[in-house]
Amino acid sequence: MHHSTARSEELFREAQQVIPGGVNSPVRAFKAVGGTPRFIARAQGAYLWDADGNQLLDYIGSWGPMILGHNHPAVVAAIQQALAEGLSYGAPTEREIRLAQRVREAYPSADLVRFVSSGTEATMSALRLARGYTGRDLIVKFRGNYHGHADSLLVQAGSGLLTGGGGSARSAPSSAGVPQAFAELTLVADYNEPQALEDLFQRYGEQIAAVIFEPVVGNAGVLIPTPAFLEALHRLTRQYGALLIADEVMTGFRLAKGGAVELLGLQPDLICWGKILGGGLPVGAYGGRAEIMQQVAPLGPVYQAGTLSGNPLSMAAGLATLETLFQDPPYARLEAYGAALEQGLQTLFAEAGLPVAINRVGSMITVFFREGPVQTYTEAVASDTERFKAFFHGLLQRGVYWPPSQFEAAFFSLAHGPQELDKTLEAIAQALKEPALLVR
Ligand SMILES: *Cc1c(COP(=O)(O)O)cnc(C)c1O
Repeated sequence: MHHSTARSEELFREAQQVIPGGVNSPVRAFKAVGGTPRFIARAQGAYLWDADGNQLLDYIGSWGPMILGHNHPAVVAAIQQALAEGLSYGAPTEREIRLAQRVREAYPSADLVRFVSSGTEATMSALRLARGYTGRDLIVKFRGNYHGHADSLLVQAGSGLLTGGGGSARSAPSSAGVPQAFAELTLVADYNEPQALEDLFQRYGEQIAAVIFEPVVGNAGVLIPTPAFLEALHRLTRQYGALLIADEVMTGFRLAKGGAVELLGLQPDLICWGKILGGGLPVGAYGGRAEIMQQVAPLGPVYQAGTLSGNPLSMAAGLATLETLFQDPPYARLEAYGAALEQGLQTLFAEAGLPVAINRVGSMITVFFREGPVQTYTEAVASDTERFKAFFHGLLQRGVYWPPSQFEAAFFSLAHGPQELDKTLEAIAQALKEPALLVR
């Protein structure tokens, strides 16, 4: 059972000589769970192979993009074709139009879409646009929601920051290097607590440019919005003339063709995308009503640009991914796998006498190590992270690669089938026999 990780250990030592912490994004360093991160050599379908040749059943999916599974032939072929035509021109191309049309097909409320190169750029640009459009400065975000690493959004942000990526999750700002003056323009409210939002609007409503939120939270672990919370979001933003920004970077094209907006019947003013939209290559986008999006340069006074924006390879990968998803919408299949996984987990944890709260929407799932329900950030962070560590390593040693943090959603893909389900549940059943996971 025990994997040899000699090569990963060696690479991690070498990486730390030239890259801060040996990684280019903090959560990859396994700081929250300890141990050596696996260096990945290749991927196919639902699996990764690490540098020591161990096969890992992947529940991270590159943190969201790989909904079709790794190396999907349609995506690979599209990239290969684009590759033969040149890497980047810094000029408009037809693929950008086709991808924007696909986004609009899934999100009819987005009249205009602007492509950028990451989710961070998408939310950062959407905020600037909201401020430019409303002429107001304040932004509202929710504790534990993560919207990328732009200065004004690194305030009480989730996941990586909850698990030792930098700063302290309990103070605002949540990273060193974010000026207090920026943080002061960001008001923080509690997710699923409509009264707190109401109070905030009563006090600052006329100065609030926008409320940005994760329509289903993935970055504090999975949190599901209550109808009362969603109602308050829509009502208060409208009443006070603030824009509602749905950050669908994680949920877009994953929870439904039209993401959480479609699934939950939301009516945001602006929407941000990333992850699946790039099919595994770097992409982000933001869009919304023409009247708002026309404020973006070159049409309007809100500046936003990018040397590699609309990069041909990224557009090709995104287009192939969306076309594959739309041709034969997979959401019922993903839901079936998710329901079976969730049921299997419930049974195994109940048999082991271990209290957990399992939150799942479609192909996003979190097992919180505490009694449920878990609806708020405060409830999520009260989870037993020591027990989570044991769970994580118990699975990893058995070839199942769960996200290395209690506060990250696990994802599965269309490449996850009955065999993968069995393998996962068997690994969990075995892991639950380990002393570290048994009730103390
Ligand atoms: C991943 C994520 C981002 C940031 O996207 P990057 O491409 O990592 O910059 C923003 N918002 C949400 C909800 C995310 O999950």
